[in-house]
Amino acid sequence: MSRIAAFRVDGATSWGVVEGDRLFPVGGRAGAPGSVEELLDTPDLSVWLRSRAATSLDVGTVHLLPPIRPRQDLIALGLNYRDHLDESAARTQQFTPPRQPILFSKAASSVIGPEDEISFDRSVTAEVDWEVELAVIIGRPGRDIEPADALKHVFGYTIANDVSARDLQFLEGKQWYRGKSLDTFCPLGPWIVTVDELGQARGLQVALRVNGQTKQSSTTDHLIFGVEDIIASTSAGRTLGPGDVILTGTPPGVGFTRVPPEYLHDADVVEAEIEGIGVLRNRVRETRSRAARS
Ligand code: MG
Repeated sequence: MSRIAAFRVDGATSWGVVEGDRLFPVGGRAGAPGSVEELLDTPDLSVWLRSRAATSLDVGTVHLLPPIRPRQDLIALGLNYRDHLDESAARTQQFTPPRQPILFSKAASSVIGPEDEISFDRSVTAEVDWEVELAVIIGRPGRDIEPADALKHVFGYTIANDVSARDLQFLEGKQWYRGKSLDTFCPLGPWIVTVDELGQARGLQVALRVNGQTKQSSTTDHLIFGVEDIIASTSAGRTLGPGDVILTGTPPGVGFTRVPPEYLHDADVVEAEIEGIGVLRNRVRETRSRAARS
């Protein structure tokens, strides 16, 4: 039904509904929730998604922000595409499909928007890798959610790039949180597509390009655990709430499994694309090293 974007224009932040290349602002209207996070706490939120202001903006003229600021650290799945499991096995020592989703968390502070740069200091990490992922945004709270009820708790979907510092991730064991939580390492966007449009998000093409070269190309049909099972598993004994974000794992083609390995460098442009959602495009910037500054 809707594509929802957060944006900044003339120094003010707001949110609105995207149709084609037009953006209909909602956030500034009388009585409207001021942000996407407030929208998720609004009981009659569909009223605001249906309403249209008389005026609209060209979506290309506003500064798009992350469509959601996660309420807490993101929940993420590792090794959730059958083919990615195979390519990673030598490094992860996980040779068979997991019987339960493999979960880790990624710091909420790592989130950036579709117009921000992925930036890193080469003295902290020299192995920065890409991972395109379908991101699930929770709307209705719930705990111990049955798979059959799971989609009632989903507000919508967006695209994530689970940027990963492999040298930190594989240092002294499996330090997923450390390797995946650096500032700017979680681009999200460009907007949220509501669940009524994508359902359980099966059969969607998922791709990632670096400087126009395709590195990852798969479909969500290859997910080991689908959206409904992921929600059932992550809500077992734990309350999921509005604004929680779950990253569903990445398909094959990441840099560290390539021969020779490939990583991101200054001025690279990374495009993560998911059918039915859009393209999340971020530029890479290497900052001056800590050592060089002193
Ligand atoms: Mg990942």
